[in-house]
Amino acid sequence: MYNYPLYRPPSEAYSLILQLSHGCSHNKCTFCYMYKDKNFYIKSIEEIKEHINWGKEQYPDASRIFLADGNALVLPTPVLLEVLQDLKDNFPYLQRISCYAAPKDLLKKGLDELKELQKAGLSLLYLGVESGCDGVLKKVNKGVTSEEMIIAGKKAIDAGFQLSTMVILGLGGKKLWRSHAEKTAEVISAINPNYFSPLTLMLEGDTPLAKEVQRGEFELLSPDEIMEELRLMIENLDLENCVFRCNHASNYVPLKGILNKDKAKILAEIEGIKKIRNFKNEFYRGL
Ligand code: SF4
Repeated sequence: MYNYPLYRPPSEAYSLILQLSHGCSHNKCTFCYMYKDKNFYIKSIEEIKEHINWGKEQYPDASRIFLADGNALVLPTPVLLEVLQDLKDNFPYLQRISCYAAPKDLLKKGLDELKELQKAGLSLLYLGVESGCDGVLKKVNKGVTSEEMIIAGKKAIDAGFQLSTMVILGLGGKKLWRSHAEKTAEVISAINPNYFSPLTLMLEGDTPLAKEVQRGEFELLSPDEIMEELRLMIENLDLENCVFRCNHASNYVPLKGILNKDKAKILAEIEGIKKIRNFKNEFYRGL
């Protein structure tokens, strides 16, 4: 039933995944290997309904549904509304519907459209911010500026969605790490999301970024440098009641808390980690 590979955020581990599209409509980020072998494709409404019927037979009690692949929010709003209604009609225990949202999808849809989708049951969006530094965003080909990222994130919140944001530690390399830390904190603070998760850069496959590393054009940060980058980022964050989770498989150490409430505690933990250097072995970092 699935077109592989299939990805979902860690917090969707127990969700029913329904594929509305294959791949990512952008598919140009230099660090991303996820959908490189997939041609972007939006399923027909008939194909989507077939998948929903399959899901209903397999997991009739599903309470959480994640709409895949890389940016299901790119689907036309009327199609999404029809899908959301179908899900409501077919899954009586449904509590949460979520998907990845690319910043361009949020920018393209009107605020009223987004509000309509939220009211129809799409409750949680995952936004890959990656960095708040324009130099980094441009270099990795994210396709938007930091200002556009802020507009996209705030629009999601204004529309009533729960917003989960991800950034990538190490994405600025040795040249841009400081700006990456400070500007990312600025952008995340401006968005003020409900959830904030730093992941750590991993090189997989022959992505353009992996090739830059091979050619010596991009220098990876060491685990100690990653911790200093994270420390600086957290120090500069100003958030209201944001769930902070640094527990992705790619991270060198797990950290969690509520920001700003637990900022001092998290910073102290980072200082401790910098001393004892209990980093996850490189071999165990992965998905
Ligand atoms: S928008 Fe997301 S899924 Fe698409 S290429 Fe970039 S990181 Fe990968």
